[in-house]
Amino acid sequence: MTTEVKQVKMKDLKALDPRWCTGCGDYTMLVGVRKLMVKDQMQPKDTVYVSGIGCSGRIPHYMNTYGFHTIHGRSVPISTGVALVRPDLNVFVASGDGDSLSIGGNHLLHGISKNIHCVYMMHDNQIYGLTKNQTSPTTRKGLVTATSPGGSIMDPINPIRFALGLGATFVASTAEWLGQHFVDTIEAAKNHKGFSFVHVAQRCPKFNPAAWDFQNSDWINFLDHENGVAGDTKGAPDAKVVKHDPSDLEGAFSHSENVPNVFGIFYQKEKASYDDLMRQAVENTPKKDPSKLLDGFAL
Ligand code: SF4
Ligand code: MG
Repeated sequence: MTTEVKQVKMKDLKALDPRWCTGCGDYTMLVGVRKLMVKDQMQPKDTVYVSGIGCSGRIPHYMNTYGFHTIHGRSVPISTGVALVRPDLNVFVASGDGDSLSIGGNHLLHGISKNIHCVYMMHDNQIYGLTKNQTSPTTRKGLVTATSPGGSIMDPINPIRFALGLGATFVASTAEWLGQHFVDTIEAAKNHKGFSFVHVAQRCPKFNPAAWDFQNSDWINFLDHENGVAGDTKGAPDAKVVKHDPSDLEGAFSHSENVPNVFGIFYQKEKASYDDLMRQAVENTPKKDPSKLLDGFAL
């Protein structure tokens, strides 16, 4: 899709028919992002979706925007390149829990700390789904999987603490089944300048149906704040709502202790992005005559 759409509608954003298991939360996320694009009239020609490998990796095929379905764990390097040369684009990234925190952990680390301008959605189903049921970095302790027949022996990585610890400038968590909360969270992430890390609780009925078993009961805490997105608790009517100021890093760490049971914006701050700084640095570097680039080197 490279042409301007007069008025963006849901049908303009459809590409190939999605193919996930029945009841997969990836469907809901796909629809949620399309809803946001319609709400904010985001042009498909101004939007690019980048993914790694995994069930979530298929999304670029299903969005009628620009897209890169890259290799395992490498969505951040590709997004960095896009953000560097096309600062005018909306860059969405889809990555699973394994793709993000295992195979792509090194790249995610640098994407966060360099504050690359993109909306990074970590689809967390607490399992490797595409490769059929292996223990992932967020698998709960004790879960029996194909690679942990006696039950996973490790505590899961806390993705919110990972992002906060790296100095992320936007850290949030939501769940795909929460509808408006998901859309509002992604909108806040899109409006943030820099790396917006959004943890998304995602259902995988095929391999990890109990991961989010408590989804509509009082296990959820919503973070609520003045300009926040946690006002809508539909889909979790018994949830608790707790006040939180997203500029409070200590409070963010404290709330993150209860992850994955907490949804909302944990932290937000302003910081220059690598892509902006690098463009400035290139602009300010004196241009050399290409024929003299090797002067001084002994060949
Ligand atoms: Fe969705 Fe799980 Fe099926 Fe993958 S394996 S498509 S995450 S339900
Ligand atoms: Mg996964």
